[in-house]
Amino acid sequence: MRTDYHLHTPLCGHATGEPREYVLAAQQAGLEEIGFSDHNPMPTQFDDWRMAPEQLPQYVKMIEEARREFPRYPIRLGLECDFIPAYEEHIRDLAKLADWDYLIGSVHYITPDWDVDNPKHLKRWTEQPVDQIWQAYFDAYTKMAESCLFDFLAHPDLVKKFGHRPEGDLSRFYRRTLDAIAEAGVVLEVSTAGLRKDVHEIYPSRDFLAAAHARRIPIVINSDAHAPSEVAYEFDLAYTLAREVGYTEVMRFEKRKVVVHEI
Ligand code: ZN
Ligand code: FE
Ligand code: FE
Ligand code: ZN
Repeated sequence: MRTDYHLHTPLCGHATGEPREYVLAAQQAGLEEIGFSDHNPMPTQFDDWRMAPEQLPQYVKMIEEARREFPRYPIRLGLECDFIPAYEEHIRDLAKLADWDYLIGSVHYITPDWDVDNPKHLKRWTEQPVDQIWQAYFDAYTKMAESCLFDFLAHPDLVKKFGHRPEGDLSRFYRRTLDAIAEAGVVLEVSTAGLRKDVHEIYPSRDFLAAAHARRIPIVINSDAHAPSEVAYEFDLAYTLAREVGYTEVMRFEKRKVVVHEI
């Protein structure tokens, strides 16, 4: 039985649907357990795609209300946290502010002013070699793994979102990052969100995931739903990919502890 731990709420400003609608969609899709993980607040007005700091209690309350409405359905409380160097202390502070089941680490920012998945910066891809952009992304992802702040790490090769790809064998970008993930003992996300983007591919690529399996890196399979209709999006494809590269189990999360589950 399946889970989906990467679901958003309208508090981030770019997702639609109330938590109860995500729960109903999850039950419809036959999921056994779900978790919400909206974009974390930052200490300052950072960008326009996350809740404000004063909205965090409201976020927690929304999830508690969903739990009350569906008392027999496991609904976990998580947060998708941007990993940005110099904000590690902020993440440690957030970790104390609620009874989290898990914190997700994400790299969206590859420089302080470039969230690499944001279409408003698409022009920058023409101003710099693609190799350099990919390297900056995976350097940041490696640092995120080394930080040991998170329970699992989201959308591993998000940098491919718009379809930009360096030439040749891409393992030169993956190797150091995968070693750091294995060393940290952190769980890796397989995300079907990429199937909904220009790249039309699961995050991460088959090669990346096979190399993760070779290092015995555990995984969790998620949709990154920003609407109820995206809950469990194309999960058959992700589970098939995971099995094909050798995975026989996925991880579950409760109170920041990992539980192994057979697939
Ligand atoms: Zn989002
Ligand atoms: Fe993300
Ligand atoms: Fe997300
Ligand atoms: Zn995400």
